[in-house]
Amino acid sequence: MLNIKADFPVLNRLFGGDAGEPGMALHYLDSAATTQKPLSVIETMDRFYRESYGTVRRGVYRLSEKATAEYENTRKKVAKLLNAASEKEIVYTSGTTQSINLVAYSYGRKFLKPGDEILLSTIEHHANIVPWQLITEMTGAVIKVIPVDDTGTLILSEYAKLLTERTRIVAVNHVSNALGTINPVKEMIRMARQANHFNPQDPTRRGAVVLIDGAQSVSHMKVDVRDLDADFYAFSGHKMFGPTGIGILYGKSAILESMPPYQGGGDMIERVTFARTTYQKPPHRFEAGTPAIVEVVGLGAALDYLAHLGLDRIAAHENALLQYGTRLLSEIPELRLIGTAPHKASILSFTLEGVHPHDIGTLLDEEGIAIRAGHHCAQPTMDRFGVPATARASLGPYNDTADLDALAAGLRKIIEVFR
Ligand SMILES: *Cc1c(COP(=O)(O)O)cnc(C)c1O
Repeated sequence: MLNIKADFPVLNRLFGGDAGEPGMALHYLDSAATTQKPLSVIETMDRFYRESYGTVRRGVYRLSEKATAEYENTRKKVAKLLNAASEKEIVYTSGTTQSINLVAYSYGRKFLKPGDEILLSTIEHHANIVPWQLITEMTGAVIKVIPVDDTGTLILSEYAKLLTERTRIVAVNHVSNALGTINPVKEMIRMARQANHFNPQDPTRRGAVVLIDGAQSVSHMKVDVRDLDADFYAFSGHKMFGPTGIGILYGKSAILESMPPYQGGGDMIERVTFARTTYQKPPHRFEAGTPAIVEVVGLGAALDYLAHLGLDRIAAHENALLQYGTRLLSEIPELRLIGTAPHKASILSFTLEGVHPHDIGTLLDEEGIAIRAGHHCAQPTMDRFGVPATARASLGPYNDTADLDALAAGLRKIIEVFR
């Protein structure tokens, strides 16, 4: 098991201690919303502001050149993390949400025609639903939804039926943030390829591209975009120990090159005149304006931290905790686990008989336990399971069995109060 709480300053301070009372340690169980930051990330960003800060890709002076080198170096680290063919396939965005919007507004607006189909799953985050809805309004494309069974597992036989010659885009998450289901994305991409209906009338319209929302996967398991054969892969820095405000869109080179800019502005152009403007090649074509320089550098430090821990060790640690936590929670008769897929990441979503999830959240907070309560930006998932909201404990590599023991004890106490 990993033992890394000491690396995270916020996990080592005591909360709520006033008037001489000792404070409480934090049991942080909301990593699916955002992860805490290790000291190395905090210090790297602080040092960069103090010593190396300057604009990137514009300056002729050494400070800017050095900042640019650090900024571009993160791109190489991300390419390595994903086993991308080149760092030119790595686009900096502000987060998963922007990455998906970029694909919808650029690829979707260019290639979708009326009647074309976009396949999503029932258990998507709103960030992988709403951008597509906006694009269907502009293009006349339609959305089809892959159903899930009662454990929260996608029904692949239904997916197979939904793949038709009209399917242009398949967009699914790798891991559901609301349930923890790990989706068989490699298999799903393979199925999309097999169903690649080729239209000789229009050779540019060959089959579907597949976007994977990796917001819940990249810091929990090894991801190899070439092995998956994903066309796009999107994620956020802040869910992988990095800062907010920086995210990644991976896209296959040939596809990125076929796409028009998403936003216009500085640094994404080659030459601007009022008559005609030409654009940079990817990835810079998609990076208009002064970017989140320090956040990119912070993400680089987060990637170093991930590499230092090792994704295999993280996955093993979190899986052991998931088994432990599932067993503890299953022993509470009033508790209903929502999301019981056989293939699951370390997310425990549940309801307690007779107690609203928000009350669970606020009462646990009094014990120093931070969980999420609500719909988790996945209202269609809640609808599918017939609940308005769940309480959710989601784990990171810094969690330990004591955090889960505290959770179970806190829940039993709540049940006593409500009895
Ligand atoms: C968090 C999350 C998003 C959105 O990420 P942002 O960082 O808010 O842009 C999208 N999809 C999933 C599965 C998520 O967990």
